[in-house]
Amino acid sequence: MLIRKAFQYQLKTTPEIEQMLFEQAAFCRFVWNKALELNLRRLKDGLPLLWFAELCFWLKLWKSSEELGFLKAGDSQALQQRLKDLDRAFKDGFDKQQPNKRIPIWRKKGKDESFRIPQRFKFDGNRVYIPKIGWVCFRNSRKLEGKPKNLTVSYRAGKWYISVQCEIEIGEPQHPSHSIVGIDLGVKRFATLSDGVVYEPLNSFKKHQQKLKREQQNLARKVKFSANWQKQKARIARLHSKIADCRKDYLHKITTKISNSHAMIIIEDLQVRNMSKSAKGTLDSPGSHVCQKAGLNRSILDQAWSETRRQLEYKQQWKGGDVLAINPARTSQTCSCCGHIDPASRVSQALFNCTNCGKELNADDNAALNILAAGHAVLACGEPPLGSSMKQEPVQSRKSIAAYL
Ligand SMILES: [Zn+2]
Repeated sequence: MLIRKAFQYQLKTTPEIEQMLFEQAAFCRFVWNKALELNLRRLKDGLPLLWFAELCFWLKLWKSSEELGFLKAGDSQALQQRLKDLDRAFKDGFDKQQPNKRIPIWRKKGKDESFRIPQRFKFDGNRVYIPKIGWVCFRNSRKLEGKPKNLTVSYRAGKWYISVQCEIEIGEPQHPSHSIVGIDLGVKRFATLSDGVVYEPLNSFKKHQQKLKREQQNLARKVKFSANWQKQKARIARLHSKIADCRKDYLHKITTKISNSHAMIIIEDLQVRNMSKSAKGTLDSPGSHVCQKAGLNRSILDQAWSETRRQLEYKQQWKGGDVLAINPARTSQTCSCCGHIDPASRVSQALFNCTNCGKELNADDNAALNILAAGHAVLACGEPPLGSSMKQEPVQSRKSIAAYL
């Protein structure tokens, strides 16, 4: 079996090289925004969108024009890759199967400093050849395996990194275990497994959060755009990147552990956005976690849930295991003991007490058991795993986008 794996390294840059890298990223960003502008205008005028091939034609025109001739200094393949990304982003934005995706947005300086090269890069020991830049040394922290397919160069919190996507032949994997497990993802507990294992929530990085708050207060006291303000701003960016790294590391640890121990993993097919919405509840019965899920915290959770699923899926694929997504309807209202369905059984966010058989247990444990049972049902009788999610309405219709413009 052929798999794709990414290897990441930190570049050892000089100010001159950094300057060139920033330039290449700026060209790509410019092309994205230019093409995006073009398509948004067409959308507004009711014209069909331009896709990759047409956008490449436009890129050629821009390059040969007097006004945009400076684009010739950009790596042409990197520019084309960016158009490919935009093409993909528009397709995802209109894909009814992906209600979480929106139409693409503007790329901003300082926020998007990256470019991708599909070919013509080379490795030689601790050096990498980047077209239009030349040979650059990197910290060779782990061995590169397989055949490099593309190279992404990006800037994060003061440092430049390369990420190399490689194709590796791993043979047909056979999962070492035969067990099957159901997972419930939640707020209070990040993940609850049907075998009783519990993973703590992501906000266990409280220490960092407090530090971040202090640093942000510090920033507010400084004169805007002064040298000290800039320094403080950079410090906050580094902290943000550190928190993100911790979170990523934590998710990887969880998913590796689960994937190592179970051949079949049953999860809920959560349309994450809808789920967050329901946290607010209705006017009659407001959700009890409104604050907890509000703002940033909520978006982190949303992201963490879909990231968890993504990681589980590819890790299982590598190991020869499987992930099955089941319909999440009523997993929190059903009694895992007698099968009785009653919303009233869910006494509180944490407690489940069956109104029929009187069984009392943690609500997340109950949900995990139900998810496992639903998985067994799908596997046993071939019940369609994604019943109701197909009926979901697209979040954004073409009309609403036009109104938004
Ligand atoms: Zn019951």
